[in-house]
Amino acid sequence: ETLTHRIAAGEVVERPASIVKELMENALDAGATEITIELEQGGCGLIRISDNGSGISAEDVPLAFARHATSKIAEFDDLYRVRSFGFRGEALASIASISRTELVTRTPEALAGIRIIVEAGKMIERAEAGCPVGTTVTVSRIFDSVPVRKKFLKSENTERSYCLDVITRLALANPEVRVRVLAKGRELFSYPATPRLAERIAIVLGQRDSQRMRPIEGATAGLKVYGFASQPDLTCATTKQIYTFVNRRHVKDYLLNHAVMTAYRRVIEPRRYPAAVLYIDLDPADVDVNVHPAKLEVRFRQPRIVYEAVVEALSLMLRGLAQ
Ligand code: ADP
Ligand code: MG
Repeated sequence: ETLTHRIAAGEVVERPASIVKELMENALDAGATEITIELEQGGCGLIRISDNGSGISAEDVPLAFARHATSKIAEFDDLYRVRSFGFRGEALASIASISRTELVTRTPEALAGIRIIVEAGKMIERAEAGCPVGTTVTVSRIFDSVPVRKKFLKSENTERSYCLDVITRLALANPEVRVRVLAKGRELFSYPATPRLAERIAIVLGQRDSQRMRPIEGATAGLKVYGFASQPDLTCATTKQIYTFVNRRHVKDYLLNHAVMTAYRRVIEPRRYPAAVLYIDLDPADVDVNVHPAKLEVRFRQPRIVYEAVVEALSLMLRGLAQ
């Protein structure tokens, strides 16, 4: 591992929450139906993510840690139709280059699993291990080899809340996956798997608030908008209650937030913001969600159509309430 690699790793791994995001996305890509996240010291001390997904075969384990190694693009063309989260094959290598990363994994076919430990980019252990099918990645000594990065971390509480934000968003995008979070050996919360988005939203946002959310539905050519948004009597002082997903990927997009505000402008006070969990599904060829690996931006091929569809779907709900 060269210093350049470690600096480049900082592009993907900015803070503990970035590690949580990458590892959870890998678990989702692996088809997990249960993901458990353990955080120590707000993720600054240790992050452990276990899944019951496909696991990694013994011969592929070293490859998983190699830079630019991904099992997720079969053809170049697929780059334009990426549905799975990862396609860069950088995350695991980057994480392992700035920490001590232990991976324990087993595929359904394998009789035994394998444990591999990589520290600051160097493999220091590799052995057979007894373990269930799936993968557990434990990341500790985060940024020990990159003191500058460590200095930029905020308090444990703040880093923990960043981690929990990431978990919340992925949980909202994947209701059919059970998500458990442990801290200090205790369960912080657990979201049961459900086929119903409404049920997941209710448990994530809390019953009280979700009772004041109304279903949203709208569609135009090749585009679907759905989800839940608040009645005008449920607002907050920031946009932090507005969650937007494009093809079930969380994004933070000025255009989408603006569309939400436009729909609500007539019914809520200035500088108050609604709560909304909005999903926009469209042809992957019509959107670029990989503008930057660590950022949440999107670029729509036809932004105007998306904008108007969101305004229209929300306005429809608000007009219904007014009648
Ligand atoms: P990417 O997700 O972009 O392919 P990563 O560095 O995140 O790259 O992961 C590298 C590879 O390791 C993946 O392509 C996948 O084959 C394997 N992998 C990583 N995490 C898991 C997991 N939890 N379950 C199964 N396979 C995994
Ligand atoms: Mg990945």
